[in-house]
This record gives sequence, structure tokens and C-alpha cells, in this order.
Amino acid sequence: MSESSDCLFCKIIAGEIPSTKVYEDDTTYAFKDINPKAKVHVLIVPKKHYANVAELAAADPEELAHIVAIAQHIADEEFHGAYRLVFNTGLDAGQTVFHVHAHVLTGEKLDE
Ligand code: 5GP
Ligand code: ZN
Repeated sequence: MSESSDCLFCKIIAGEIPSTKVYEDDTTYAFKDINPKAKVHVLIVPKKHYANVAELAAADPEELAHIVAIAQHIADEEFHGAYRLVFNTGLDAGQTVFHVHAHVLTGEKLDE
């Protein structure tokens, strides 16, 4: 699926909605979550629009691996490489934005 004009994260990637950038390259964008659930809470998204992590994994597994590597790098910088990586998938699992995004939670010891 390509860019969706109704998609909040496509608009953030395009710079139409402001965000606090943490990382960017040709394929991937990372920015601070507006409602952080940990000391450091970053969202990592592919610039191409996929609805969820299963779609991304099927279409572009290298991009999924790239997202994991970026998460690792952020956690190496912020909290000696420790982090939680979450992909909420489906409404009933709490997914509210249907452009795949990795939640990276780090920067402090996390509750179990
Ligand atoms: P989900 O619930 O789909 O897994 O995660 C969506 C995340 O996007 C939530 O953690 C929410 O706080 C974040 N979010 C929603 N709208 C915005 C926004 O306009 N800017 C930023 N930076 N984060 C947002
Ligand atoms: Zn999108």
C-alpha cells in the first residue's frame, strides 16, 4: 500500500503535522510519542504505508529488521541497550493508528 492521504503518520512523515524527530533515513522515520508511557517513548515508522506489522513483515522484511536495529541503537544511547518493542496490532489490541509503528520504550527500568 502506498501513502494514504487520510493517515496521521503519513502526514507526520510528510512534515504536514509537526513532530519531534529522533531519527530519519531514506526509508524510515522515528519521532517522540505525544503521550509518552516511559521516560523515552519513540515511534519508528516505515515511510511507506502498511497497516500493521504483519503486512510490513510480508511485504518488506528487511525494513522490519531495520526498524529493530534502529530501536536497538536508540536504547544503546538511552539505557544501556535495554528496551521494550511493541507493535499493537488490531483495534482490540489498542492499535489506534493504522500505519505500522514500533513503540520503543526505554530510558528507565520498566514495570514488568
Ligand atoms: P497505537 O495505539 O496505534 O499503538 O499507538 C499510536 C500512538 O501514537 C499513541 O501512543 C499516541 O500517543 C501516538 N500519537 C497519536 N497522535 C500523535 C501525534 O499527533 N503525534 C505524535 N508524536 N504521536 C501521536
Ligand atoms: Zn500512513
